[in-house]
Parts: sequence; C-alpha cells; structure tokens
Amino acid sequence: MTPAVFLDRDGTMIEDVGYLDSLSRVAFYPWTVDTIRMLNRVGLPVVVVTNQSGVARGLFSEAFVAATHRLMDARLAAGGARVDGYYYCPHHPSGSVQVYARPCACRKPGRGMIDRAVGDLGLDAARSFVVGDSWSDVGLGRAVGARTILVRTGSGAADAALPAEGLTADAVVDNLAAAASWIIRHLNLNSNPNSDLTSNLNLKSEI
Ligand SMILES: [Mg+2]
Ligand SMILES: [Zn+2]
Repeated sequence: MTPAVFLDRDGTMIEDVGYLDSLSRVAFYPWTVDTIRMLNRVGLPVVVVTNQSGVARGLFSEAFVAATHRLMDARLAAGGARVDGYYYCPHHPSGSVQVYARPCACRKPGRGMIDRAVGDLGLDAARSFVVGDSWSDVGLGRAVGARTILVRTGSGAADAALPAEGLTADAVVDNLAAAASWIIRHLNLNSNPNSDLTSNLNLKSEI
C-alpha cells in the first residue's frame, strides 16, 4: 500500500471557470504539468478527485467529463506527466437530472471517491495527501486521515481567508507547485532525519 496525492481538479490543476462545459475552456495552470511529472518521478500515484455536480444540474454529461479527462491526459502526456486515476462525483441532492439528484457518499467532503481509489489502486489513505482550493477538499482529507493542503488558486484565496468550522489544513500554500514541494518535504517525517531524502523515496524512474 502506497501513499498517494489526491488532487482536486478545478481551481487546483486547471483554472476554475465555474461549470466547465466546453473543452476549449480547459486551461492548466502554468506549473501543473511539471508538478505532476515531478510527483510521478518520486513514485507518488496522482489521483484526481472532483465534484462535477454540473452533471446532476443538466449542464453537461458524464461523457463530457470523460472527454475532459482524456484531453487533460493528452496534454499531460505531451509534457511527460501522468494521472493514475480520475474519480468524479456527478451527483447533487438538488440536481435537475433525476438519476443524479440524490445524496451520495462520493460528493466531497464525503470520502467515497478516495475509498474507491484506495481499493482500485492499492493506496494507503492515512499516509496520503489531499490538495485542493476549497474547505471541502480539506474536509475530505480529514475524513480519510490524510494530510491536507489548501492552495490559494481558484477559490482558495477566498477560502483561506474564511475560517472553516472545525477544519484546519496542514498547510496553506500559493499553488500546486508549492503543495508538491511541501509534500515531498513531509513524505518521510517518520524515517531517519539524517538520511538523504531521495534515498527514502520510491523512485520509479530516473530523471
Ligand atoms: Mg476546486
Ligand atoms: Zn456522488
């Protein structure tokens, strides 16, 4: 069982454009591809967990969500980076599309998406990290016992300024690149502090 990095999508990996309903509006932040490639290199699985209530609201289809993730994969691959799994919640209790209009266990901060990823990919949630731009991401991380990082991109700057009842992030940083640096610094806190960091990492591939 390996630790993983669970990433929110909108406002964390790509610009938050509200309900993303057109592939032409997919815009990675300038550091996203390089950051994910670095996480790949240190052997940390990267898993996207995203609420897509636009499906329940009738704004776009699950097929569109899948097409968005294929486009993201293509752009990541062009930069030598890879996401290990995409999980999304299409539900919302007050949605207008009946099959999706219900409470569910997967809408963040519910833990359903991480529970599924843990089973599918053999991950250790308690040693993992959750990165996102909203308190619902922090809440998700807390729910599964992971460490949590709030980024100030997307709605993160506004969320960071608003105290969330009963919730604190382990770190609040400017963006995904800073979050990855924090993760790599905190990956081996329980191992020999005198050893070289990279010798403790599970290096899957060489630079
Ligand atoms: Mg977000
Ligand atoms: Zn759901």
